[in-house]
Amino acid sequence: MNILVLIKQVPEIEKVRFDYEKGRLDRSSAGAIVNPFDLNALEAAVQIKEKIGGSVTAISMGPMQAIDALRDALARGADKAILLSDESFAGADTLATAYTLASAIRKHGTFDLIVCGEKTIDGDTAQVGPEVAEFLGIPHVAYVEEIREVCSDKIVVGARMERNYYIVELRLPGLITVTKDLNNPRLPTLRDKLRAMRAEITVWGYMDLAEEGSPRFFGLNGSPTRVIRVYTSVAEKRRSQVLSGTAHEVAQKIVQILMKNGVLR
Ligand SMILES: Cc1cc2nc3c(=O)[nH]c(=O)nc-3n(C[C@H](O)[C@H](O)[C@H](O)COP(=O)(O)OP(=O)(O)OC[C@H]3O[C@@H](n4cnc5c(N)ncnc54)[C@H](O)[C@@H]3O)c2cc1C
Repeated sequence: MNILVLIKQVPEIEKVRFDYEKGRLDRSSAGAIVNPFDLNALEAAVQIKEKIGGSVTAISMGPMQAIDALRDALARGADKAILLSDESFAGADTLATAYTLASAIRKHGTFDLIVCGEKTIDGDTAQVGPEVAEFLGIPHVAYVEEIREVCSDKIVVGARMERNYYIVELRLPGLITVTKDLNNPRLPTLRDKLRAMRAEITVWGYMDLAEEGSPRFFGLNGSPTRVIRVYTSVAEKRRSQVLSGTAHEVAQKIVQILMKNGVLR
């Protein structure tokens, strides 16, 4: 089975500072790690490969330093890694990110299954996986927390959405996004890390994807989202008041307070 895993490098969220003047994360204030949910995606892919054979290719879009995230993926069991890095990919919102990833997947060629994390710990939108599936015209299941069965042309998964749990049979090629409950990502050994350090990583830029995608849809050009303002909302302190009197008097006071605050008319 030919499996692709989408990996995003994210800042260490507990350490990163927010630049209030510019209204964005100051990424230089913290180190970078593999998005934790993507480690679950990678683990799922490697387990499937170990069970039924095949190969796992990790793909990431980001600056050149995202190569470290791909080396981590190689150390944890991926066979190949591709980095999409180019100035014209910068400023991408989720739509342009998904478009660029889908273009690279088309260039990569045939695949059976794409595995993504359910969301990232920085952007946190959970949009990229399903958008990639839409661009490729393949079915997808989001929030997978159990893989029940997998063979060359189908995968049966359990996915939780709100209060419901769905068992879904997905015809392949298809895409799944996975939660942290799916598995426990393995730790790479020193030998794995050394092997990954020496591995060759393919880097594709805008020109490499020119046949699969149009430059109009990469990066900022392809991003319909406009950020108008970024601010930290101030959480109001909870206030309390003790009402005294008979039950009837207290009920009347409550009605008055609710009317004063526009809850009742
Ligand atoms: C107007 C605008 C401009 C932006 N400009 C920039 C910018 O210049 N630089 C920047 O870093 N971010 C930028 N962003 C943020 C960027 O759009 C998101 O980081 C990106 O689209 C992923 O969204 P997310 O983090 O919510 O991923 P989610 O949708 O939550 O991720 C779900 C899964 O998709 C996969 N995935 C997501 N992103 C990637 C990726 N890059 N590579 C591989 N797999 C991935 C992973 O498997 C992940 O678990 C911008 C956003 C907006 C709205």
